[in-house]
Amino acid sequence: MLLSDEITALPGIGPSLSAKFISLGIKNISDLINYYPRRYEDYSSVSSINKLRPGNVSIKAEIKQTSGRYVRRRMHITEAIASDETGSVRLVWFNQPYRAKSLKSNTPYFISGNYELSRTRFSIMNPAVEMESDFPANTARILAIYRETKGLDSRQIRLAIKKLFPLIDTLDESLPDWILNKNDLISRSEAIKEIHMPSSSSSLEKAKRRLGFEEVFQLILAALFNKDENQREKSVPIKFNEKLAKEFVNHLPFKLTDGQRVTVWQTYKDMQKNEPMNRLIEGDVGSGKTVVAAMAALMVLKAAKQAALMAPTELLARQHAQTIHTLLKPLGYEDRILLLVGSMNAQQKKKAHEAIESGKAGFIIGTQSLIQEKVNMKNLALTIIDEQHRFGVEQRKSLMAKAGHMPHVLTLTATPIPRSLALTLYGEMDVSLLKQMPAGRQQINTKLVSPNERERLFVAIDKQLEDGQQMFVVCPSISESETLDINSAEKIYALYKDKYFKHRRVGLLHGKLKTIEKNKVMEDFLDRRLDIIVATTVIEVGVDIPNASIMLIQNPERFGLAQLHQLRGRVGRGEHQGHCYLMLDDSSAPSKRLRALISSQDGFRLSELDLELRGPGAIYGTVQHGSLDLRLAKLTDTRLIMEAKKSAVEFMNKEENLLRYKELALNVSRLRAVTNLN
Ligand code: ADP
Ligand code: MG
Repeated sequence: MLLSDEITALPGIGPSLSAKFISLGIKNISDLINYYPRRYEDYSSVSSINKLRPGNVSIKAEIKQTSGRYVRRRMHITEAIASDETGSVRLVWFNQPYRAKSLKSNTPYFISGNYELSRTRFSIMNPAVEMESDFPANTARILAIYRETKGLDSRQIRLAIKKLFPLIDTLDESLPDWILNKNDLISRSEAIKEIHMPSSSSSLEKAKRRLGFEEVFQLILAALFNKDENQREKSVPIKFNEKLAKEFVNHLPFKLTDGQRVTVWQTYKDMQKNEPMNRLIEGDVGSGKTVVAAMAALMVLKAAKQAALMAPTELLARQHAQTIHTLLKPLGYEDRILLLVGSMNAQQKKKAHEAIESGKAGFIIGTQSLIQEKVNMKNLALTIIDEQHRFGVEQRKSLMAKAGHMPHVLTLTATPIPRSLALTLYGEMDVSLLKQMPAGRQQINTKLVSPNERERLFVAIDKQLEDGQQMFVVCPSISESETLDINSAEKIYALYKDKYFKHRRVGLLHGKLKTIEKNKVMEDFLDRRLDIIVATTVIEVGVDIPNASIMLIQNPERFGLAQLHQLRGRVGRGEHQGHCYLMLDDSSAPSKRLRALISSQDGFRLSELDLELRGPGAIYGTVQHGSLDLRLAKLTDTRLIMEAKKSAVEFMNKEENLLRYKELALNVSRLRAVTNLN
């Protein structure tokens, strides 16, 4: 039998059963071997019949007096008596008429099932029965519970996998011996067998650790290979001009935070080399990443090269262009800044393209318009990706490709990345942290609001609006849905405009509006022609409106923790105390997520928690994270990750030939394509 053989190659699996396997995603033998259980139930302890207690039980007994009958149409019952030297117990099966014939007398069996009260008597219900002399797959051991489908249950899956054990024994080892020894890992074959049919809970733990280690090791190795390749590329060194940097800082209306200063310094050092910078700047919402990006671009402008900044929304691109214009104007670079966004008309675009191609434009700020074919950069030396989790790998690559060689890359993110992810998924990047907030930032008052408190809150909010403050209202969807009972932006907009805030100016903002309409709403809000914006999460990203002090979130339980934290970060940036209200729909206890949000304003802590609650896919955003969701390793297991990292670094330093390990090489090359850059 081969790993690539179809599942029907297994004896006993015909077309109808194989269709069931396929519906679980199991097409071939290899898929079946890699179909890991979701959880386990412990039936390993074999008890004597007189000591049975309700719950999952296993016994070793002989079976007598088997009988079967229909109690109703479509309801067949098989009953039998199992006895050992201490007593007997009734076994009951529903709708398994074949049972009666398959049981032999005077034969010791292992019997595992649920011991429970059935009508007036305790019985073992629907037990699995296996001859003691066989290697038991479904009885008297820790049993793997798989994702099942109608007509294919865990018992059948276990029996199928049991048939593969001889094949599993012949599988190649996927990790070098020295890594197994060093990290005290069991062999791959052993681990796979144990994962499906654990011989004890301690050996199951060993199997999980071994396979989990491998998952993380592959991920880190992929990142290291990417990093290695990146460092072999040549890029244009950008000279550091201290005088210019000082001049820039002197013109700022504020003092840089320590984190900003260190980060700017690191980027300057990186860019002076002729190997490309690949740096991630991680800083909570409002930590001031834009200034750092502007300072990096400043040196590029000075060197008469081009820098490009790509933002996920037009709103944000416009805001960046404006901010950066203000920042660079005192140094006389304002004429070299250019905005390129989708809503510009054909003629404006044409002019912009020309300025980009001729090099007249030195700092190009835009949306995905930047990666369109028509855009030809003259000498792009630095690319900056804002809110990187909003872009896919392909988009980021396309921007870099505009340089014609490897540019320096600066990536900005407000999603704090847990250390474990930084080591694995982001392992190929150097990371700078902006830990402190600029001076004077306040804590945002975060509150849960139950339905009966709503009207009172609206009265209080109205006073603040009267005062000239502004409010964001965020809803989980654009329009009503028939299936979900949630507050859509359209519904809330109508409700607020016509009822609760009749005398206020209310705007509506969501992704289905034309860009021009979106810009208009945003401009109206910025210029205080609107008091309230009812929106979807389009406003999640980066928008900076200092006068907006109130954030009201509808159906907060529909958002992720990191996302809620981002939304909250939209307010409290100006002189007024910021408020974030989480509008509950009923009075049931708030989720762990919401309680965490209230108790902490530390984006790092919240992201660690989000990782635990929802897995890496949720944090990693739009990238093809499906292939990154680890099955056994927990990304919260920092110790395992550190060990895997150490071995991966050693693997690189030894210049081991990856191709010697076929399975590893295959996985690493797949992961290289989906992990972060390049
Ligand atoms: P983010 O990191 O979320 O992108 P921004 O770069 O938009 O944050 O900065 C948020 C606000 O903080 C901007 O108005 C910016 O001018 C201001 N800011 C940035 N750095 C400082 C600082 N060191 N001190 C005071 N305000 C700052
Ligand atoms: Mg930003």
